Amino acid sequence: MSAYDDNNIFAKILRGEIPCTKVFEDDHTLAFEDIEPQARVHVLVIPKGSYVSMTDFVEQASDAEMAALNRAVLKVVEAKDLKERGYRVLSNVGEEGGQLVPHLHIHVFGGQPLGPMLG
Ligand code: 5GP
Repeated sequence: MSAYDDNNIFAKILRGEIPCTKVFEDDHTLAFEDIEPQARVHVLVIPKGSYVSMTDFVEQASDAEMAALNRAVLKVVEAKDLKERGYRVLSNVGEEGGQLVPHLHIHVFGGQPLGPMLG
């Protein structure tokens, strides 16, 4: 796994150098609208810590960070009224996983029938 790159776009969002439309924030996490939504609801949930991917996060993060990330997903689900309707949570990891931004992010999709898991 490559080292964390401080210049990735989500690091810049976390530093406030690039704007985002915030959905939820706490000490450990930030959730914001995806800039190119692929569903009516498309929110990204990221840890504030410098983790490249889900692999890196699970290997290195504290229990508090891990709990916060999971709870933040639920906060987004509640904020977007998806709890009863259903939704999809996805995290792309690495080259074959299709990860483009090298800072862990969890996609939350919803607001419409989402179809088959892989397009
Ligand atoms: P990945 O393919 O890495 O899982 O997904 C990266 C996601 O980040 C894409 O859905 C893309 O639209 C989103 N994205 C890329 N740059 C920006 C940005 O500057 N702001 C926001 N809000 N989302 C971004």
